[in-house]
Amino acid sequence: MTTPHHPAMPDDLLAAARAAKGFMPDAEGAFLFERGVEAGRSGPLLEVGSYCGKSAVYLGAAARLTGTTVFTVDHHRGSEENQAGWEHHDPTLVDPDLGLMDTLPVFRRTIADAGLEDEVVAVVGRSVTVARHWRTPLALLFIDGGHGEEPAHTDYESWVPWVDRGGVLLIHDVFPDPRDGGRPPYEIYLRALEDGFDEVGVCGSMRALRRVDGQPGTPVSARTSG
Ligand code: SAH
Ligand code: MG
Repeated sequence: MTTPHHPAMPDDLLAAARAAKGFMPDAEGAFLFERGVEAGRSGPLLEVGSYCGKSAVYLGAAARLTGTTVFTVDHHRGSEENQAGWEHHDPTLVDPDLGLMDTLPVFRRTIADAGLEDEVVAVVGRSVTVARHWRTPLALLFIDGGHGEEPAHTDYESWVPWVDRGGVLLIHDVFPDPRDGGRPPYEIYLRALEDGFDEVGVCGSMRALRRVDGQPGTPVSARTSG
């Protein structure tokens, strides 16, 4: 892949992204930012799975540079792996009255501290519910929501139809070797390759694919394996 010259992420936003709680190594965050800058002039960006706003700062920085908007979809109640007793649980992110995870206050603080409230628009709800009413072609879609079988494939089927032709799909936590991590993100990456997307980049567990075939709004093909 030839890499065109990219503007660097502004220092204050880079510091905000690095300081934010979350699951995005620096190099993958930089990769996300660069793909956002490439896509942002063509339309809006959307991420599924925001948690405390770390990846949203990288995408928000790209949105600011290109004059677009990032929509961040999350119910803010955590994935299965974020719940009490699981590997990625953080007890400071529990609403004590409800006894449920609530990452929305931390998310808002992250975005406010970064000064990105004009660029980053939080949509709070289940991914499938939001997608049911979504009608806007996306210049970039970043999938980093629930990593289980059902949530990953549902996110794929719900949101990938809205990637514009020429637009970019980014999938996080793609591990071709099962010893490195769970299968579902890898499975949906394989589906994208069958559904008119070409791989255009990789950084760590992040894969970038470009939609070279198909029209936004048309369903992806049915799942055949997995
Ligand atoms: N991108 C984040 C990490 C996301 S973690 C970062 O940079 O750190 C995964 C997130 O997906 C969690 O916040 C969880 O609440 C959300 N999530 C999981 N399943 C979801 C669903 N079905 N609908 C909406 N959000 C979901
Ligand atoms: Mg992830």
